[in-house]
Amino acid sequence: MARVLVTGGAGFLGSHLCERLLDHGDDVLCVDNYFTGRRANIAHLIGNPYFEVMRHDVTFPLYVEVDQIYNLACPASPVHYQFDPVQTTKTSVHGAINMLGLAKRVKAKILQASTSEVYGDPEIHPQPESYWGRVNPIGIRSCYDEGKRCAETLFFDYWRQHGLRIKVVRIFNTYGPRMHPNDGRVVSNFIVQALRGEDITIYGDGNQTRSFCYVDDLIEGMIQTMDMPDDFTGPINIGNPNEFTIRELAERVIALTGSRSSLIFKPLPADDPRQRQPDISLARTVLDWMPRVQLDEGLQKTIAYFRRLVNTAAEAAE
Ligand code: NAD
Ligand code: UDP
Ligand code: UDP
Repeated sequence: MARVLVTGGAGFLGSHLCERLLDHGDDVLCVDNYFTGRRANIAHLIGNPYFEVMRHDVTFPLYVEVDQIYNLACPASPVHYQFDPVQTTKTSVHGAINMLGLAKRVKAKILQASTSEVYGDPEIHPQPESYWGRVNPIGIRSCYDEGKRCAETLFFDYWRQHGLRIKVVRIFNTYGPRMHPNDGRVVSNFIVQALRGEDITIYGDGNQTRSFCYVDDLIEGMIQTMDMPDDFTGPINIGNPNEFTIRELAERVIALTGSRSSLIFKPLPADDPRQRQPDISLARTVLDWMPRVQLDEGLQKTIAYFRRLVNTAAEAAE
């Protein structure tokens, strides 16, 4: 049985990861400061003798004994990471230093949840891991993008300098149950708006693209990466290469919810990438991994989750 630390374990992806690791028979320590994570995401795991939760901010040192570390702590949605941008950079950079220092002391294997944002607004399409990116270092997304880039640098320097066993996974837009209903990400926004019969807010003309990966596929890819032999470090793209415009996504959500919502157009935020699609050749080759859940199926599961949330909130208000 491996002792596994998951930072950001009460968040959207972290809670799914904790669940999957427990199913695999691991002993899981979930660390979170609850900035964007919620106790409700892990409530069903409490009481499992192999699951432990600790409130802690990864920008401060952490002394525990573990075999593996998944470093997910960091707000992921623009609304939240831009709320306190200095703290966002600290979380990525100081958080990485502390978790790498911990991995070094206890000789743990450590995986970084990096992001497609390291490619910025890319001029190469789709994006392979070899692409260095086009990132604005001083814009409103920079605290997140550059923080994550610096974290990758730290991972590779600890690997070169101290011989740490590292894995870097570049996650592309992922969605599913337990996304925060108010986190401003496009899938959760559109579904909640459709279910409430509110206008669906498209930023810009809606022709920008994203490639959406269902959470179960992503978690599978992440665990498979962690289980790779020590000489495999990544970075490795994990995401679904099926690319959609934001307008197409809105139309899918309206069709699948049966909503009467209409589309409205709002200004495009600064530095919003025009297009994004992972090149997953590496994951296909080395992990034999590819996403299994396509958009409509994943959206249906996510809609079912948000329908319960919206109905519960409506009942509570009555
Ligand atoms: P999330 O906001 O739901 O989860 C992040 C978790 O980290 C939350 O539980 C939050 O409370 C916690 N956290 C934030 N700052 C912390 C700190 N200083 N100390 C301890 N805990 C802290 O987001 P998510 O979608 O689950 O993302 C998880 C990770 O995956 C993040 O590192 C994110 O950058 C990365 N990622 C996610 C996506 C995606 O589409 N969901 C895409 C690329 C990368
Ligand atoms: N650290 C930690 N837990 C540990 C070991 C280290 O949080 O079990 C932190 C510690 O705060 C340190 C950082 O990780 O500042 C980096 O550790 P490292 O050993 O690389 O460097 P140093 O201790 O020399 O700063
Ligand atoms: N977006 C949108 N309406 C919303 C929320 C987001 O049109 O209500 C757009 C946003 O401008 C971006 C895309 O959807 O072009 C994805 O946004 P998200 O914040 O989910 O992820 P990211 O931009 O980090 O990929």
